[in-house]
Amino acid sequence: MEKLDVIVVGAGVVGLAIAAKLSNTGRSLAVIDRRGGFGEETSSRNSEVIHAGIYYPQHSLKAKFCVAGRHALYEYCQRKGVPFSPIGKLIVANSSVQESALHTVMEQALKNGVDDLYWVSKQGFDSFSSELSASAALLSPSTGIIDSHSYMSSLLADIELAGGIFASHTELVRAEPISGGFIVWLNVDGDVVKMQCRHLINSSGLSCTEVARRIEGVGVSLLPELYWCKGHYFNYSGVNPFTKLVYPAPEPNSAGLGIHATIDMAGQLRFGPDAHYLSPQDLLNSQDYSIPISLKEGFIAAIRRYYPNIDPEKLHPGCAGIRPKLQGPNDSFKDFQIQGEGEHHIDGLINLFGIESPGLTASLALGEYVANMVKESE
Ligand SMILES: Cc1cc2nc3c(=O)[nH]c(=O)nc-3n(C[C@H](O)[C@H](O)[C@H](O)COP(=O)(O)OP(=O)(O)OC[C@H]3O[C@@H](n4cnc5c(N)ncnc54)[C@H](O)[C@@H]3O)c2cc1C
Repeated sequence: MEKLDVIVVGAGVVGLAIAAKLSNTGRSLAVIDRRGGFGEETSSRNSEVIHAGIYYPQHSLKAKFCVAGRHALYEYCQRKGVPFSPIGKLIVANSSVQESALHTVMEQALKNGVDDLYWVSKQGFDSFSSELSASAALLSPSTGIIDSHSYMSSLLADIELAGGIFASHTELVRAEPISGGFIVWLNVDGDVVKMQCRHLINSSGLSCTEVARRIEGVGVSLLPELYWCKGHYFNYSGVNPFTKLVYPAPEPNSAGLGIHATIDMAGQLRFGPDAHYLSPQDLLNSQDYSIPISLKEGFIAAIRRYYPNIDPEKLHPGCAGIRPKLQGPNDSFKDFQIQGEGEHHIDGLINLFGIESPGLTASLALGEYVANMVKESE
């Protein structure tokens, strides 16, 4: 039976970042994915924004990994020639309640070590766009955008250059802890293949709890409740009036960041994502990425608050993504959860749960953190 040091389950941006970090340390490694390529689920269905790390509670993993991950990501993109742009984002208010939310944003950013936010005057944000309607705005200059596909390709090249393997069409169906590692059963294009590994890393995104259940000995009581929360986007085919990303002031405990305006590296302006929790039944079904046209009216109303002259005729259904959230519909903030031996008492196993936004931004910091956990467990 073939034996590897590490198997990473899931070739999304986080699994690839973990694998890139670990393959660089001389360990034999495979990153596997049940899909035909890498990054085919949430990692190719997001806003491609490099977040600054503003909103999350101080000392949370999301705050810590977002700030560290953002620095690491800008450095990585520059070094590897991955297309990115530190375009900046405006967070806009249109009422006294929202203005006070912006003050809270500023305080939270400072607590998280994001000290470059500044207030922009009315003339100031007019210069970013004459179409923008706001009573107050904050500018985050360290927010940016990235070509996430190129980034993932680059991580995969790092893995392969260091001797690591990417196996597509390969699904983890079962794992059994044995002395010094695991036996894993993989469904490789319909054939079941058995392998051994010393470390098993579950970075399977929307399937994180399902994959954990397939690993013998993982106590069900340790598995967090997982919610799928769908976000839809609408593309805008009119002229893009913005030179910065535009976000509305955040609502307390909301599931997303409000319907915002983002621009991708190809210059496409799009609005979204909204946030709709899916029912437990939906979790059993395959992922549904359709965009009901009935959502359009709600989008127009939300966008008009900061862009009153939007032409509704030019707003068209775009794509959708699904967030693997630990925060339920009526919950307050929930952090990423990374469980190692200390939690589940299984030597060599690391489970990542609830890696929603800012998972893309945080990927390199998550990779570093998980690689250190592996090192410490040896
Ligand atoms: C609408 C939306 C907008 C977002 N916007 C941003 C943003 O602007 N900035 C940001 O930083 N973050 C953003 N995020 C979050 C970011 O996209 C995710 O945190 C990140 O992509 C998660 O990557 P991942 O590798 O953990 O998961 P995934 O990309 O989901 O990868 C998991 C992989 O595991 C594989 N898998 C599952 N089960 C198995 C199995 N049994 N065997 C083998 N393989 C398996 C799947 O096929 C999948 O490819 C957004 C998310 C959403 C939904």
